[in-house]
Amino acid sequence: MKTALDFPVTKTQNSKLATTDFSNLVFGKTISDHMFVADYKNGEWTDLRIEPYAPLSLNPANATLHYGQSIFEGMKAYKNEEDEVIVFRGDANWKRLNESAERMCMPQIPQEIFMDGLMTLLDLDRDWVPTAKGSSLYVRPYMFATDDYIGVKPSETFKFIIFTCPVGNYYSKPVSVKVETKYTRAVAGGTGAAKTAGNYAASLYPALQAQKAGYDQLLWTDGKSHTLIEESGTMNVMFKIDGKLITAPTNTGTILKGITRDSVIQLAKDWDEPLEERFLAVSELETALKSGTLEEAFGTGTAATIAHIERININGTDYILPEKDADSFSYRVLSELDGIKYGEIEDTHNWVVKI
Ligand SMILES: *Cc1c(COP(=O)(O)O)cnc(C)c1O
Repeated sequence: MKTALDFPVTKTQNSKLATTDFSNLVFGKTISDHMFVADYKNGEWTDLRIEPYAPLSLNPANATLHYGQSIFEGMKAYKNEEDEVIVFRGDANWKRLNESAERMCMPQIPQEIFMDGLMTLLDLDRDWVPTAKGSSLYVRPYMFATDDYIGVKPSETFKFIIFTCPVGNYYSKPVSVKVETKYTRAVAGGTGAAKTAGNYAASLYPALQAQKAGYDQLLWTDGKSHTLIEESGTMNVMFKIDGKLITAPTNTGTILKGITRDSVIQLAKDWDEPLEERFLAVSELETALKSGTLEEAFGTGTAATIAHIERININGTDYILPEKDADSFSYRVLSELDGIKYGEIEDTHNWVVKI
């Protein structure tokens, strides 16, 4: 495949393709043969290359290990009937990576480097894109500090890497969630809107408490009053109450601007579905659950696309959600997005690129 940039490609001598069991993929455990790497030094990106996926060598004083100057993205590629690889909204992931970079004092990555690296990697590892229904190739672009220096200051050198993982369905079952009112994921002025490592490290402990109590995920509330629903650990969330979709706005700096969220909002607009971008109070959610006006609740994110929520815990009380039928919004939007991603439905918003 032809790209604007020219960089060396070193192919693996020991492909893991033949020994990989594609019918038994655990999310994030199986990694494809190659990775794209670029290094940042003296104010520019250099040494672009594709090489076999392999361990990195790091100095023990590596800045990322100490202070977490690290950001990432998550996106997916699919295969259509013609054996073409389809990438969903990669440009949006590139833009968001640069927004995270700005907040974390990291360099911008030019679109050409991100896209050419991505496209060349996907073309080379195209046999790693699974074809079974519901499966895809998860793509993980990320950037981290590489200065060997333990003073607290922005690093001057960085690495940008893209590797990929074939994955099956993320959640095959509906999820149960607990509304978190003690711990905080993000506050205004903090880093909640950036896809940066520390946000996830900080959420592990509260998420583990919820898992021990039998829930899959948390529903985070605002860090100040803990009365407004914000999002879930790796997904934005949407509710349908009395025929209206409600999802939190993303202008407070506390909520990750999900690309799935944005795609769902666009489809809701296309279909004239009423949708409000506003905070839903926990009390309003509780009232809707009690009175039966809550019709649907679901998470939106690249890993799961749409994760139906079947049970919500609010202050110790469990509420079971109504079963959804095939014409519920969340099912329709899931099948529309799947159709676009697998190349079966016309892509009217220019969301996909084919390789
Ligand atoms: C990545 C992420 C999302 C979902 O974003 P998508 O672009 O839809 O995958 C939502 N919330 C958090 C905290 C995330 O890290």
